[in-house]
Amino acid sequence: VRLTVKSEPVLLVHGGAWAIPDDMVEAHLKGVRNAVAAGWRVLEGSGSALDAVEEAVVIMEDDETFDAGRGSFLNREGKVQLDALVMDGATLRAGGVGCVEHVANPVRAARKVLSESPHVYFVAEGAEKFAQEHGIPLCRNEDLIIPREVERLREVQSGAPTEKQDLFAPTISHDTVGAVAVDASGNIAAATSTGGTLNKAPGRLGDSSLIGCGCYADNQSAAVSTTGWGEPIMKLVLAKWAADRVASGNLPQWIADEAMNYLKKRVNGHGGIILLDAQGRFGFAHNTPRMAWALRTTSQDQAGLQRSSMV
Ligand code: ASP
Repeated sequence: VRLTVKSEPVLLVHGGAWAIPDDMVEAHLKGVRNAVAAGWRVLEGSGSALDAVEEAVVIMEDDETFDAGRGSFLNREGKVQLDALVMDGATLRAGGVGCVEHVANPVRAARKVLSESPHVYFVAEGAEKFAQEHGIPLCRNEDLIIPREVERLREVQSGAPTEKQDLFAPTISHDTVGAVAVDASGNIAAATSTGGTLNKAPGRLGDSSLIGCGCYADNQSAAVSTTGWGEPIMKLVLAKWAADRVASGNLPQWIADEAMNYLKKRVNGHGGIILLDAQGRFGFAHNTPRMAWALRTTSQDQAGLQRSSMV
C-alpha cells in the first residue's frame, strides 16, 4: 500500500536583492504581495507547486517595478533581453529560455519547454520560435521598454568609466524575481525570471535561468531561487550548492545564511536566496541592504524588505 503524504503548502517569493531605496519600498512590497497572492490561489485550489511558482512569477514579470518582463533593464544596445527557468522537483524536469527579446512572459515560455519539449533550454530566436509554436504570442521589443529604463541606460552610458565599474555595487538594482513552493502533495518547484543586468553586452546570460545557479528544484533536496550579481553566483553554482546542503540534513534557513556567507567570502558576490524543502521548511537571506520577499503558508501571510523584518 502506498501512503500519500499530505503536506501544508508553502509559497515564498522574492523581487530582487539590493539597496531598494525608500521611495520604491511600497511598489516592491505591493509587487511581491500580489505575486504571492496569485501563487497561493493555485495552491489553495489544490494546484501544483509548479503552477504556483509560474503564476507568482508572471505577476512580477508584468509589474514594471521589477527587472523581469516589461520594465527590465536595457542591454548595451538599448534592448530588453530576458531569461527564465522553471524546475519541477518531483520529476527534475526543467525548462529554460535565454536572451528572448519578443516574449513578455518568459516564464510561460520556460514552462512550455519543461512540459512539451524533450530539450531543457532554448535561446534567442529558437526560443521565440518554440514559444510561438506552443501558443505564446510574440511582442515587439519596444513593448517591453519603458521610459525609466531608457533614461537609466542613458545615464550609465554617459557616465565616467569609474561610475561604470559601480554597476556591480549592491546599490545597483537587482530586481530579478523568483518563487519557490511546496504543494499539498509534497512536491516542490522553483522559478526565476530576469532582464539581467543594466548595460549588459548583447547575448550575456546571467545566473538566473541556469539550472543550479539561479534556480533549482529537487524533491529530495530543495527548491531554490537566487538574485543578485549573476556572474559570481554562476561560478559557485549557488542554487545547487544550497540544495545539496539541505539534502545533507541542514535546515534551509541555516543554508540560506551560509550561501550568502560563501558568496561573499569566496567570490565577493552579493545577492539574495530563497529556498524550501519538501517538508515546507523554508529559509531566505540576502547580503544586500534589502530584498523584497513575501511568504504565504496556511498560518502566515507576510512580506518585507529585510530578512530581519520576518517575525
Ligand atoms: N542575477 C541576475 C543576473 O545577473 C540579476 C538580478 O538578480 O537582478 O542576470
